[in-house]
Amino acid sequence: MSEIRLVEVAMRYTTRQGQVQALERISVTVPDGQFACIVGPSGCGKSTLLMVAAGLVEPTEGEVLVDGSPTSQPGADRGMVFQSYSLYPWLSVRRNIEFGLEMKKTPKADRERRSNELIRLMKLDGFADAYPKALSGGMKQRAAIARALANDPQVLLMDEPFGALDAQTRQIMQEMLTDIWQRYRKTVLFVTHDIEEAIFLGDVIYVMTNRPGRIRTTLQVDLPRPRTFEMVSSPQFAGLRNQVVGIIHEESLKAVESELARPA
Ligand code: ADP
Repeated sequence: MSEIRLVEVAMRYTTRQGQVQALERISVTVPDGQFACIVGPSGCGKSTLLMVAAGLVEPTEGEVLVDGSPTSQPGADRGMVFQSYSLYPWLSVRRNIEFGLEMKKTPKADRERRSNELIRLMKLDGFADAYPKALSGGMKQRAAIARALANDPQVLLMDEPFGALDAQTRQIMQEMLTDIWQRYRKTVLFVTHDIEEAIFLGDVIYVMTNRPGRIRTTLQVDLPRPRTFEMVSSPQFAGLRNQVVGIIHEESLKAVESELARPA
């Protein structure tokens, strides 16, 4: 059982210019083994939501529960993958993957077995001793996913992990991630601004409002698994895409209007 719950989470940043209400009373439950995606207009608080879930920022109100236990700090129970900077540049791919296990004092033979398995699975064969700067963007993110999985976290938190990749690499990464998810069945909370990515990957999509971010709509994605790229052109996929595009367009317009209404 590996469930993550955000309960009535609110987040207000204090800046020199004043206070920014990023999130307002958000409740999200991702049950064991579910792949949940968060989409929403730019600046609506998606990254903030994930940082709160990771314990990297403390919410102004509300709490985060992993398997029912409150948590307020980062922990090995939640693996993180960001758009960039998920790897230590001074460690090789293998040492990056084994880092969490080394911290836990896992015996070397077990560490190696685990990193070998993940290196094979993430198609990083031949790059175990390479440093991150020698890797392509797609490889870096594959290594980052391997690193997050190595600890066998209960929950995987992903913030735009493919956001910096070109369209083709992104598609390959999405396919790899669905394969891996089918294999390990981790509970995943995945933030993206790419609507098609959310539909392709998710069991459920939370669509956020403009800032302060709240959950506006929750959509179930009933496309069969394993997902394939042919599904992208199915009427069901197109129906979901239009629905989400419509909501985000409305929310983005609201954001522009409220900006215009604000005194300069
Ligand atoms: P998204 O990921 O949806 O683009 P963010 O969570 O990054 O949104 O940001 C939500 C809002 O909070 C934005 O208005 C952003 O400017 C603000 N914000 C994010 N991080 C900080 C911070 N550390 N300090 C002040 N404001 C912040």
